Amino acid sequence: MLPTRLPIVSPGPTPPCQEKNLCDAVGASFDLTCRILDREPRPEFALNKVREQYDALELLAYLEKRYSARDGLILAITDVDLFISVLTFVFGEARLSGRAAVISTFRLREQYYGRPSDEEIFFSRVEKSAIHEVGHMLGLVHCADLNCVMHASNTVADTDVKSPMLCPNCHAGLRKIS
Ligand SMILES: [Zn+2]
Ligand SMILES: [Zn+2]
Repeated sequence: MLPTRLPIVSPGPTPPCQEKNLCDAVGASFDLTCRILDREPRPEFALNKVREQYDALELLAYLEKRYSARDGLILAITDVDLFISVLTFVFGEARLSGRAAVISTFRLREQYYGRPSDEEIFFSRVEKSAIHEVGHMLGLVHCADLNCVMHASNTVADTDVKSPMLCPNCHAGLRKIS
């Protein structure tokens, strides 16, 4: 039995209908119930003023403190640009087999790359990023299969190539928690 709850908190503006669709998609992928929590304020505490980006690990530490283990797994969605110290940016970050993850929509919009807005592509990237990070919380590491949602994305092109599905190997490796 997989976790029964996957609260999604959303620091920053994400259209509510998108949160609902995302909740449904992530829930269906892992056979878990997902609910949307109250919005959080923008995570200004995690801002690195030199990089003008937000520290993903600080955000995870905040989520782990703010929510108890009883709340289940936590996936936060934010529109701020995230980084970890060794990388220029991250699309998302999660504790492996942990209970907190965050994804950023900052680099998922076509407009970020100077192209016309495309909501379908945008949502598909958000969905894959969310499923990928939840996969990490459920014990999955990166997968070599380009089409598997657990394949690492260094660019949005990587994200666009992969499907929102787990390959059979990854599916078999899901951590079982109750
Ligand atoms: Zn990953
Ligand atoms: Zn895989």
